[in-house]
Amino acid sequence: MGGSPDQALDYRLLFESAPGLYLVLSPDLKIVGVSEAYLRATMTQREAILGRGLFEVFPDNPEDPGATGASNLRASLDRVIAQRIPDTMAVQKYDVRRPDSEGGGFEERYWSPRNLPVLGRNHELLHILHCVEDVTDFVRLRDRRAEESRHTVELRRKADRMEHEVFQRAQEVQQTNLMLRAANAELEQFAYVASHDLQSPLRSIRAYCQLLAEQDQGALDATAEEHIRSIEAGAEQMQALISGLLAMSVIGRKEAAATLVDFEALLERVLVQLHGLIQERGAEITHEPLPAVPGHELELNQLLQNLIGNAIKFQPGAAPSVHIGARRDGSFWRFSVTDQGIGIEPGHHKEIFNMFQRLHPAIRFAGSGIGLAICEKVVRHHRGRIWVESAPGRGSTFHFALPAAGDTGLRPTTATDTSA
Ligand code: ADP
Repeated sequence: MGGSPDQALDYRLLFESAPGLYLVLSPDLKIVGVSEAYLRATMTQREAILGRGLFEVFPDNPEDPGATGASNLRASLDRVIAQRIPDTMAVQKYDVRRPDSEGGGFEERYWSPRNLPVLGRNHELLHILHCVEDVTDFVRLRDRRAEESRHTVELRRKADRMEHEVFQRAQEVQQTNLMLRAANAELEQFAYVASHDLQSPLRSIRAYCQLLAEQDQGALDATAEEHIRSIEAGAEQMQALISGLLAMSVIGRKEAAATLVDFEALLERVLVQLHGLIQERGAEITHEPLPAVPGHELELNQLLQNLIGNAIKFQPGAAPSVHIGARRDGSFWRFSVTDQGIGIEPGHHKEIFNMFQRLHPAIRFAGSGIGLAICEKVVRHHRGRIWVESAPGRGSTFHFALPAAGDTGLRPTTATDTSA
């Protein structure tokens, strides 16, 4: 062995092999030593840089007009030279020149540099040790995260804005709904009050007509009697219209709980109500087994009565026949009322459900043109639908579909249901 252990160490080799990125500079900023790691990181060769000026070897990227790496480094080195104390620099963008063999140009790089003075015994500056860490990957990662979080913030802002808009629209829709409901209720109230109040003057017109006709019998001439009959007929028609309007305005007016309406029993009652007409016309009514559906009984009564009444009325021949059917159709029960009557032009299949819409003069078929409008409103109130299949001279089938039990927004009340 022999000698001190130091003598066996090759400090130059050790320095050059150290994993850190080191550059040794002379006080006039010439490169006098460099570690392998530094050479690899800066893509340079030792023999090409030793002895050369630092800024000659590592100039700023001329393609980056905002490059400040070289000037910041110079300022830091000036501080070390002047004050002989270490100087730690902020992270620098200092692009590295690619060797011509690798295509030339500059490669974007970020560094965290520290400059340390190496002082002699008399505190004189011998060297400057320039130590750097390549933090390019870290900076890129940070930038990407910043970019991502900017995107996230932007997206969140956008989402917030959209949420706000959706909320506002929902508020507007709700407001409009309320206004519509109020307007609708007002209109129905108006129709109700108007038709209700119109009845009493009409009753007195009819009563005085009757008085005139009875008391002054013989005192009036034929023309006057004819006029009185016309007034009576007009008043009667008006009474029918007003009754229809009144009936129409009360549908769905008071939201009572729905019950399970047995159509077999309902049909029986309707046939009793139509007894006079059925007898008078000698009508035959047949039906299939009918189900029970959730609904408002009085309204469904009107529906069935109007449809059967029309089916009899619009079969002018002797012994009209009407058939009532029911068939399950998905979550609905589809009912049908079929007659062998005069039928309806396909062009009128929709408009007959409008209020006061009639296809025939009153002399031929009496009526007010409200019956089917009531049917449509009743079915709509039950969240169902109504339509007709018909052709002139081939009879008509009126179909109406009502949600079956368990498939409706209506709340059915049965004997076992005590919630209503
Ligand atoms: P109304 O029976 O009082 O005239 P509706 O609203 O019940 O009023 O019917 C409207 C019109 O639809 C009737 O005037 C008639 O022209 C037509 N219509 C209704 N039911 C039938 C039917 N079963 N057969 C032929 N036409 C019908």
